[in-house]
Amino acid sequence: MDLGIAGKWALVCGASRGLGLGCARALAQEGVHVLMVARGAPALQQAAAQLSADCADAARATVEYVAADITTQEGRRAVFAYRRDFDIVVTNAGGPPAGNFRDWTRDNWVAALDANMLTPIELIKATVDGMAARGFGRIVNITSSAVKAPIDVLGLSNGARSGLTGFVAGTARSGLAASGVTINNLLPGAFDTDRLRAVMQANADKAGKALADAMQSRRQSIPARRFGTPDEFGAICAFLCSQHAGYITGQNILADGGAYPGTF
Ligand code: NAD
Repeated sequence: MDLGIAGKWALVCGASRGLGLGCARALAQEGVHVLMVARGAPALQQAAAQLSADCADAARATVEYVAADITTQEGRRAVFAYRRDFDIVVTNAGGPPAGNFRDWTRDNWVAALDANMLTPIELIKATVDGMAARGFGRIVNITSSAVKAPIDVLGLSNGARSGLTGFVAGTARSGLAASGVTINNLLPGAFDTDRLRAVMQANADKAGKALADAMQSRRQSIPARRFGTPDEFGAICAFLCSQHAGYITGQNILADGGAYPGTF
């Protein structure tokens, strides 16, 4: 299927590895020009060079990068100094740490809200009016399955991402929908990335288990009996960014191998 977005410009955050890189890859493979953002320049430069090489034959996509902390004003300024008019924006940053809510200070909460609620809102604010004026726009926020099925130790994430989810539900249905701009949230369950491995390692250490055993029992708890891959995640993102997905907005799309047990 031709997604009909070749030649568009995408901003993909948290793109040096994991789910963000999966999204950048899927978009570049469709011929979308991609600006990749992550904090560490060496890893980002390497990921961008690899992606550019991989897509050289398949698509005429330009792959650029800006090393910046997207959760800061300076970081966002650096990104928008590079380019302002994005047709597609994939918001993403690292998730907050796990813990006990009794230990979290106001500063911990402000950091989580900044990263996982206010940064996506700032990116939406900076880009959607230009998209609406041009008659096409796609925002995909990478959130978490924890928005639908909260995980107790991830209270910072549950809270901040639910705040973003409420904001998106209202904003997506504003005048933007009639201007060709969609805003959706993509909710990962367990995907095989560095973050998943780091979380699993911490769990395994706590339980005195080997990482491989902890990973295997987690796989067994998922109806699909496996973790998702960043490429699968990227393909869903690219479809949501496509011309074909113009009638999908304000939605929370779960990709979790069937792990969420509810009917709706
Ligand atoms: P990851 O750690 O593998 O990759 C995160 C990427 O974001 C890296 O490129 C990193 O450099 C970049 N990044 C982090 N903080 C940044 C910042 N402040 N500014 C710019 N770039 C930044 O993580 P992942 O597994 O790809 O997860 C992506 C998001 O999805 C996270 O918010 C995570 O909490 C969430 N999530 C992941 C899973 C999973 O199973 N992998 C499940 C639920 C939710």
